[in-house]
Amino acid sequence: SDKKSQSSSDNPKIRTPIVCVLGHVDHGKTSLLDRIRGSSVVSGEAGAITQHIGATVVPIETILAMGGVNKNLKFNIPGLLFIDTPGHHSFTTLRARGGALADLAIVVVDITDGFKPQTIEALQILRGCKTPFVMAATKVDRISGWRSFPSETFLSSFAKQNQRVIDLVEKKTYEIVGSLAEHGFSSERFDRVDDFARTLAIVPVSAHTGEGIADLLMVLIGLAQRYMEESLTLAVDGPGSGTVLEVKEEKGLGATIDVILFDGTISVGDEIAVASSTGVITTKVRSLLQPRPLKEILIEDRFSRAKSVAAAAGVKVSAPGLDQVIAGSPVKVIDGNENEVRESIEREMTEINVTLSPE
Ligand code: GDP
Repeated sequence: SDKKSQSSSDNPKIRTPIVCVLGHVDHGKTSLLDRIRGSSVVSGEAGAITQHIGATVVPIETILAMGGVNKNLKFNIPGLLFIDTPGHHSFTTLRARGGALADLAIVVVDITDGFKPQTIEALQILRGCKTPFVMAATKVDRISGWRSFPSETFLSSFAKQNQRVIDLVEKKTYEIVGSLAEHGFSSERFDRVDDFARTLAIVPVSAHTGEGIADLLMVLIGLAQRYMEESLTLAVDGPGSGTVLEVKEEKGLGATIDVILFDGTISVGDEIAVASSTGVITTKVRSLLQPRPLKEILIEDRFSRAKSVAAAAGVKVSAPGLDQVIAGSPVKVIDGNENEVRESIEREMTEINVTLSPE
């Protein structure tokens, strides 16, 4: 439709890539996500991040304004959607059509601590799912002697360190390169990577000082541009498809489902199908809810209502009869053949039962 393609005449409409954060416990997944979520609140720029249900969207304008180096000149990606819950469990249980829901991932590794069992597990999971990812070498501020330059790019901050610190960062980075090689990955510090299809990028970052965050986001945008364009194109229009994050009882609404929409559009009044403990059920969307912006926090209702939501997005769906819905289930807008939709959900649920459960 004309309305939907107005923003870019020659660029196709591309949906927001979905990003998940993995890595060993205590290596800084939560802190990194918190920092990314807070990044544009600090800058106060136009195009601030938006809080979704279960996810956070950082628009491309915000990422570009942070000043990371880019080797990639065209940007038709609207931004990045980060799943708020980090970890392997979240990555493996959130599925989309039998594959991973996340299009991209960040594997966090503490630069002072190096590889740990869950770091290796994360790599194996991502390799299995063929998910492109970047390594965030976190806690760079803990390198002995590091001088912090809050929110600066890694390269800018790195250039101002003394030689001893520079050598230490290089040594620690090459230890990570070595560990990755042991597991079959060719890697380099991000600024030395020429071909992101062949070489895994390592970005030293600090969640505490914000150093390197701009570079990390820019590498993700580069990966998305490079690998995802085809699969992300045209995924904004058409009937919505999503994955149920959680089933939640809400005061005045009854049972609701928190959904990550990865494809198409969902609207109030749409007929949807979703798996429940009694089998696939169909129901009609009563309302679509999103968190209120912080500045409106005094309004009593926690949620704002939308008529329609397009992928990728996190949204709370209110509809009759959702109380027995199973978390992890696909949720689909029925557009035409109801039986086909029901069967595809049954098929996907069977797949999940067979192939999931990494624990
Ligand atoms: P998670 O278990 O992977 O989610 O790790 P957390 O984000 O909870 O971090 C574990 C600990 O490391 C906490 O005490 C954090 O404050 C600390 N931490 C995380 N990131 C950084 C960082 O960039 N620099 C420093 N100095 N500490 C960090």
